[in-house]
Amino acid sequence: MTGTTLDDYTDRYARRVRGMTASEIRALFAVASRPEVVSLAGGAPYVAALPLDAVGEMLGKLAADHGPTTLQYGIGQGTLELRERICEVMALSGIDVGCGASPEDVVVTVGGQQALDLVARIFLDPGDVVLAEGPTYVGALGVFQAAQAQVVHVPMDDDGILPEALEQAIAEVARSGRRAKFLYTIPTFQNPAGVTLTEERRERVLDICERAGLLVVEDDPYGQLSFDGDAPAPLRSRRRDGVFYLSTFSKTFAPGMRVGWILAPHAVREKLVIASEAQILCPSAYAQAAVTTYLATMPWREQLKTYREIYRERRDALLAGLADLMPAGTTWTEPKGGLFVWATLPEGLDAKAMMPRAIAARVAYVPGTGFYADGTGAGHMRLNFSFPPPERIREGVRRLAGVMEQELAM
Ligand code: PMP
Repeated sequence: MTGTTLDDYTDRYARRVRGMTASEIRALFAVASRPEVVSLAGGAPYVAALPLDAVGEMLGKLAADHGPTTLQYGIGQGTLELRERICEVMALSGIDVGCGASPEDVVVTVGGQQALDLVARIFLDPGDVVLAEGPTYVGALGVFQAAQAQVVHVPMDDDGILPEALEQAIAEVARSGRRAKFLYTIPTFQNPAGVTLTEERRERVLDICERAGLLVVEDDPYGQLSFDGDAPAPLRSRRRDGVFYLSTFSKTFAPGMRVGWILAPHAVREKLVIASEAQILCPSAYAQAAVTTYLATMPWREQLKTYREIYRERRDALLAGLADLMPAGTTWTEPKGGLFVWATLPEGLDAKAMMPRAIAARVAYVPGTGFYADGTGAGHMRLNFSFPPPERIREGVRRLAGVMEQELAM
């Protein structure tokens, strides 16, 4: 076939493709990854902190030590060995047998991202409403958008989602005749805002959702990356009915493994497995064996400590840099874990419009607009502190502050 243009395809796309636009973040990555740019834009874990030689040796021996199953198809739900290990990992944050967590109800996924997609697949019809924090995880917005659902944002403050605003949003959606299916929430070390829902609010949020008949999808990739004492226990440890718990080894081990999971209410688990089989047949046997062996034979709790220490130092560098260098009127969150700080710019500054000038000044961030379904949020930016070393972070903030001062003077 010759002479095919994009136009030849546009009227053939499925309806759900129409709203699919390239993520702002993806577009930024190409520029931000140039070595001269200090990138506070990414969200990459610092995997160089892993004992790479030991991990390499473990990976090299997987097939020989664990037999051909590591190279074979497996079952859609994921291996029992890994699901058992996942239960051990969840028990660390209080999700244990006492609250009904069992390998039976765990579904292994290709990262937390597939976990989100599966939940969307089994629950969302076009036009359904998902309630989510404003701002929220950009990858979740992509999933909900592909499901043709509508995201209604619920505002947060430094203590996480505002329970009153959640109640209001539920009432408004009901008044408009639409159906809200679930609350999507990242209660601990939120991406992008860096804030954590307090103990007291956790109970209130769960009560509100229960009363409204709203499912809760708890996305928790960061809960184990706490810097200043333990994070509040996950929502799922407090309530088993109606709460889906999603997590991943991307931040506690390595995103390259692409291994995550869902702990689902028992009745729903089978639907998730069927949906996953339709999508991917089964998660990678090799990646599952790698994660299982990593958890069984390597000091993964020590590694978690290492990640925490490195990120704590980097968070401190970012917060100190912001305090010393940001123009008056700038505010930011002070995360107690995770990978991100959310900054609010002085009145009149637009993080999206400023981006080309920031890149020219060799610093990158993600404008707040990427984290809202309706494109608002231009007065904010997300700053990542997990990847660049402390001195680069400081230099990045210095460059950023310079750009902001210039904008303010314009
Ligand atoms: N949820 C949240 C809140 C995230 O920040 C991420 C990764 N940035 C994911 C899910 C997906 O993680 P992965 O697919 O790498 O496990």
